[in-house]
Amino acid sequence: MIIRASLLDTPSPGNLRHYEDGVIIIDEHGVIAAAGASSDLLSETLLEQHDVFEAPADSRLLCVPGLIDIHTHLPQYPVVARREDALLPWLERHIFPTELDFQGPGQRSLIEAFFEELAANGTTTVVLYSAVWEDSTALAFEVAAEKGVRAVIGKIMMDEGSYGEPHPLKARRKSLEETTRLAKEWHGANKGLLDYAVSPRFAVTCSIDLMKEAATVAKDFDCYIQTHLSENDAEIEKVRERFPDNANYTDVYREAGLLGEKTILGHAIHLSDPEIDLLAFSGARVAHCPTANFFLNSGLCPVHSLRSAGIPVGLGSDVAAGPELNLWQVMRSAIETQGVRRMLDDSIPGLTPADAIYLATLGGASVLGKDKIIGSLDQGKEADLLLLDLNHILPLDGRFSGDLDPQDIATTLVYRGGPQATVATFTRGRQMV
Ligand SMILES: [Zn+2]
Repeated sequence: MIIRASLLDTPSPGNLRHYEDGVIIIDEHGVIAAAGASSDLLSETLLEQHDVFEAPADSRLLCVPGLIDIHTHLPQYPVVARREDALLPWLERHIFPTELDFQGPGQRSLIEAFFEELAANGTTTVVLYSAVWEDSTALAFEVAAEKGVRAVIGKIMMDEGSYGEPHPLKARRKSLEETTRLAKEWHGANKGLLDYAVSPRFAVTCSIDLMKEAATVAKDFDCYIQTHLSENDAEIEKVRERFPDNANYTDVYREAGLLGEKTILGHAIHLSDPEIDLLAFSGARVAHCPTANFFLNSGLCPVHSLRSAGIPVGLGSDVAAGPELNLWQVMRSAIETQGVRRMLDDSIPGLTPADAIYLATLGGASVLGKDKIIGSLDQGKEADLLLLDLNHILPLDGRFSGDLDPQDIATTLVYRGGPQATVATFTRGRQMV
């Protein structure tokens, strides 16, 4: 297939690459055979040999890499925007009861609708937490496979304060057995589009034994690990009470063996310098979830400090703490987070729209160790793409907006982008929307 559109991506942090009149050629395996200026690539013969993607009439078609959401919670989506002042009461009152209900075959329609809405928002790769239930987690993988989504999914593990099995020892044994079965069946499934993430919720609801054994399962299957770290003051205090012998929150995960290059830590806001050094040394990665952090008054993630230490960072919508799946809004919030930090301390650099787009595309791919496969519009990468109509995000349908340079386009996307502009998304060349 040939897609003729304006092309925009970020081959490195903060740098935009743009072809006003561009072309992407996708081969029969869903791989980008060529991408660049139409004047260099397009010929009559080529057009005769390929299907050409039909753009809507009068559209201003733009192609960017499919967006990568590296932290969100599938079962929580129906209860977005339920207000509490802080993380722990919000979990107790709204989230645990919702996750408790997320079991049985009846969840299929919710899961299908969730993946459809993700694609409508331009997200082609997602890292998901399910609930503690094995059956609905397996169902999430089945639906993801049917739809051709690129996804990393994990069943939440808890053995203390869980809404599942109340007896800690039984809860731990059950959680480990189920996690092992799911990892065995789904890690690397659907020709590598699906992966498993061993998912202890956080140190507030997991014993050290559960976390240690979870780390062993992840090692055995070489799968991802995801958990939450240092999101909120009361949470950090709870971890301090539960693990008084550890130097800090991050050190609990170190002791458990949970930190490594396939570990994605959600939030990582209130970290001391030794904790940042420990994360960098371990190779762990961070999912920055700014809309969620504003929603629950959690704090301002020190993105610059993390990246300066060499920690790969990507973005997460983190529903239902984040109020929406729209990653453009998450990018805007990421810029505003660093903007506020800069207002308080002008030695901290801000985040540009180009850099925010990097975090939600190639940066997210790097967090997953998939930056050679997805995240930019390079020849040889798999065709995970988002096609959008700029007219639907420009004011007054773009009628009075004139020419836009690459910076204008990036800023417009980040400050006004959303599902209303999505024309199509592709994962490995397969059209999802
Ligand atoms: Zn989360």
